This record gives sequence, structure tokens and C-alpha cells, in this order.
Amino acid sequence: MKIYNLFLDLIAPKKCYSCKKEWHFICQNCFDNEIDFNSVCYVCKWKTKNYEVHEICKSGIYYDKVIILKHYKSKLISKLIKDAKFYNKKNLLEEISHYLYEKFIINEKIIRLEDYMIISTPSHFLRRLKRWYNTSDILCKHFSKLSYIDYKKDVIFKTKNTRQQSKLTRKNRLLNLQDCFKINKKYIDKIVDKNIIIIDDVISTWTTLNEISKILKQNKVKKIIWIIIASD
Ligand SMILES: [Zn+2]
Ligand SMILES: [Zn+2]
Repeated sequence: MKIYNLFLDLIAPKKCYSCKKEWHFICQNCFDNEIDFNSVCYVCKWKTKNYEVHEICKSGIYYDKVIILKHYKSKLISKLIKDAKFYNKKNLLEEISHYLYEKFIINEKIIRLEDYMIISTPSHFLRRLKRWYNTSDILCKHFSKLSYIDYKKDVIFKTKNTRQQSKLTRKNRLLNLQDCFKINKKYIDKIVDKNIIIIDDVISTWTTLNEISKILKQNKVKKIIWIIIASD
């Protein structure tokens, strides 16, 4: 596979989406210019320390940290994500994962890796077929390879194919999501007292993110950290 990629690079070298420099989909320079990494509590939208949700904002909220790379409004990032999703550009996602890893390791002072676990977001198998692959899975896998943090796929699964969340009102979103996530039985013991990192390309909705966090916390997960490439 590596040789095949190298071959591809030679006949059609990767070009930075922004500055067109060769060998990267997004070069370090453009990445640094494009990404703002605001340390914000996304419940109240005010500044916070190290991406943490403020203690006073935690009522009904089950996640502890949310790191978002960029607003979807960024043309560059939205094009990157679209291409990665629909044109099957796996190495584009891996490149983003690499940047995420670099930033994340700096921000998160991880002392004992065994306290951490990476999991991907669940997608219903029908939707997975339509999209060809699970972007979250690719991001997580690569992040795990770089960081040596254990990655487990399919820890959470969807019990029903929910309707597209973004098209519903807030109240209906909650109803639509009720009891729709479950923890895979074989992981119930393995996630106890872990700090869970979940990586995804976009936030479908904040309700989904909270519902997934909720089921994890109900199963004794210690801390939940979301790393997301783009949000509205
Ligand atoms: Zn560039
Ligand atoms: Zn807050």
C-alpha cells in the first residue's frame, strides 16, 4: 500500500489545497494560518481553560472537553472534508489526524496512556454503506497509530437508523435519539474509569454528541474528550 501511495505521489503529487505547494493536502503553514483552536466552553461559548466545559455549565452536559479545529465556514476546511468523504481520500484524513495529534498532545498532558482510549462515532451500517467508509474510524485509527493510545472500533453502536438530525427541531432531535445508542457488551468492563477520546470530522448536532457522551458516562467512563475537525 505504501509503495502504491508513493507511486501515486510521483505521478500526481499531492498539492496543498490552499497554497498549491506539493507533497501535502494541507501544508503546515496553511494549517497554522487556517486553524484558530479557540479554547471555548461550547455550552456558554465563553473562553475556558484547556477546552474544558465550565463546572457551572455542566448541568445536563456529559462531555468534559471539546476541541474543534475550525468553523465549517472556512472554505478550505469544508472542501477538505467534502473531498475526504465523497472521493475516498483516506490519506487526506490521515494528514489531518496527524495535525490533530500534534496539537492534541501539546494541549492534553497525557501522563498514563493506559488511562485513555480512543473510540469512533457510531454509524448505522446502512449509512456506512452509502458513505463507503466511516470517516471517524479513519481519523481515530491514524491518531491511535501516532499516539499509541488504544483504539476500539464499535464500542458504541446505533440501534436504529435515526433520521438526519440536522433536519429536525431540538425537541424532535431528543426524541429521535432517545435510547438509540448502546454500548457493545464486550467493552462494558473495558471502558470503566477510562478517559475516552472521540474523533470525528463534523458535529452532526450537539444533541447527538451529548447523547453519546451520556451513555458512556452512565457506563462509568471518567472523562470524555471530543476532537472534531469542523463545526458550524
Ligand atoms: Zn499550503
Ligand atoms: Zn461555559
